[in-house]
Amino acid sequence: MTSVSFSCNCGTLKGVLHEATPQNVCHLVCFCRDCRAFARHMGQAGHLEPGGGSPLVQVLPARIEISDGVDQIACLRLSPKGLHRWYAACCNTPLANTVGSPRMPLAGMWRGLFGQTEVFGPVTTLGFTKHAVREPGAPKRDKGIIRMMGGLLGRAVPAWMSGTARQSPFFDEHGAPVSPPVVLDLSQRNALYND
Ligand SMILES: [Zn+2]
Ligand SMILES: [Zn+2]
Repeated sequence: MTSVSFSCNCGTLKGVLHEATPQNVCHLVCFCRDCRAFARHMGQAGHLEPGGGSPLVQVLPARIEISDGVDQIACLRLSPKGLHRWYAACCNTPLANTVGSPRMPLAGMWRGLFGQTEVFGPVTTLGFTKHAVREPGAPKRDKGIIRMMGGLLGRAVPAWMSGTARQSPFFDEHGAPVSPPVVLDLSQRNALYND
C-alpha cells in the first residue's frame, strides 16, 4: 500500500501516512471561516487556495504515524465548541483537525505537510464555498460533498467494526487528547475573522 511521508515546516515533527490512495482519502479544499482563521493564526495565510480555502486531506487517524517530534504536538480550539485543531508547536505548522473524541475516526490533515501530493489524486471536494473570500479564482459552488460523506462512512464503518477507530496519534488509549487544547479568547478569535 502507498505510504507517503510528511513533516512540519522545520522538520522536527515527521511521520508517514499509510494507505494514501485517492480511494482512501478525501482530497478537499475547505472554505469555511474556521479553517481559514486557524490557517491565519498559524501564519499560513499564504498557503490558502484562491478564495481563502484550506487544502486538506481527510484520512482515517489510525493511518497517521508520527515518528519524530511527538512532543511537539499541540492543540488549539478556536472556540469552546470548536474542532480540535492540531499543530506542530516547533514551527506552527497545522497538522490536522479532528472532533474532540477519537470515537469519530476522521482527521483532516493539512496538505502542506506533504512533500508530494500526487498520491492523493486531484482535489475532489470543495466545501463551504459560500464562505469563500470573494476574489478572483474563488469557487462559486460546493463539489463532491456526497462523495466525501460516502468516503467518510466507508472508512469509519470498517474502523468501528475492526476496533481501529480509536487509534489516533492525537488521543491516548483512554480517549484523552495527547496535548491539552488551548481555547482562543474572544479578542484573539475576532482578529482572525476579518473577511
Ligand atoms: Zn516544526
Ligand atoms: Zn473548514
